[in-house]
Amino acid sequence: MKALFEYLDSRTGETIRTLDELVRIPTQVPPGENYEKIMDLAAERLNDLDFEVDKLIMPRELFEKKNPRLTHLQGERVNLSAVKDIGAAKTLLINTHLDVVPASTGWSVPPFECTVKDGRIYGRGVADSKGGPAALLTVLSAMKDMDIEPKYNLNIALTTDEEMGPYSGLCYLADLGKLKADYFLSMDGDSDDITIASNGNVDWQIDVFGKSYHSGSSFLGVNAIEKSIPVMSGLMELKAQVEKRRSSVPASMAITRKTGIKTLMPVLNITIINGGVKQNIVPDRCTLKGDRRFIPEENYDDVCKEFAGALSAVRKKHPDINLKWSCDEIYAPMLTDMEHPWITEVKKVASEVAGREVSLAGAQGSLDVAYAVKVTGLPACCFGLGRRTQSNAHAEDENIYIEDLEMYTRFLAELICG
Ligand SMILES: [Zn+2]
Repeated sequence: MKALFEYLDSRTGETIRTLDELVRIPTQVPPGENYEKIMDLAAERLNDLDFEVDKLIMPRELFEKKNPRLTHLQGERVNLSAVKDIGAAKTLLINTHLDVVPASTGWSVPPFECTVKDGRIYGRGVADSKGGPAALLTVLSAMKDMDIEPKYNLNIALTTDEEMGPYSGLCYLADLGKLKADYFLSMDGDSDDITIASNGNVDWQIDVFGKSYHSGSSFLGVNAIEKSIPVMSGLMELKAQVEKRRSSVPASMAITRKTGIKTLMPVLNITIINGGVKQNIVPDRCTLKGDRRFIPEENYDDVCKEFAGALSAVRKKHPDINLKWSCDEIYAPMLTDMEHPWITEVKKVASEVAGREVSLAGAQGSLDVAYAVKVTGLPACCFGLGRRTQSNAHAEDENIYIEDLEMYTRFLAELICG
């Protein structure tokens, strides 16, 4: 391992060049129109490293059926499955996504190329999530040069549309049965902690109905916006009740430091409100939308029942309110047993290469990895590149430290063949 580590350190320049090539292909979504280009690049590299490579394009009809709100996206939804079977007893699945969020105008460097400055690499996607694959390609090529076999058969899934969801390329590969393995490492995460759990996500919608009328005689109509006020108050009461709950899963280090909140917690949000067409017309409809993130100890059915209960309490007090509601599960929660040998292994290797105790934590957000875990039942965790409070993932001047890129390269090497 020592010789491999030294060899890897001598190839950091090459990893940065690979990362630069990946960043220069603008895979921002929307519209996500360059997926084919980036997958062709990855496919060529993995082919040269003796992987059996399969390009998997999600059919347009399936994409639109599963993501009804995303009909404006352009280009093919391309994903890659690369398998190397060396006859080992166990198979390791490694995944991340190659789409990125768009870049705003506030960057101090060009977003779609790598700029190296003060020990950091800047560029859209360097942390989320193109740095991991760049490191992985260097590790695999170094192993080939040094004639080192991996400990596991390798199944590499590079996917797209994670940043849009809900039905991403990873979900598609899971349903195709392309994620066959014994252990699952997602490189989509930061290196602050190892994510072993995530909240589930329900999108809800309430339509409150009224009767439109000339506003001068508004007492002859029914104002749907005004009728929404008690509904929102009811939701705020539910929010207070929901957000008192705590999971047993530890929260991420960054959240605990910033807020003192020590474990995962559920949340309820009102995030969209639409109603009315003109000042002088009584609105006949008001639509409220939001989400409910639920902890692994909760489940979708109970979340819906509780939501229904809150609304019927509102209607009991205000029988004249006419509404219709729905709750859709977007992602299930994820929870991998913290004592699972695979988790122990990842934690040991990560702590060793990082030179600090890397702890296990849950994510407040929801992951497409959770969908894959629900389908495959694999023990899974996420450990990636970047520091939550410094890397600006999804913001301007996204960056990673070169030393973190080197640490991550050693992490993958040790995990795959240590
Ligand atoms: Zn990501």
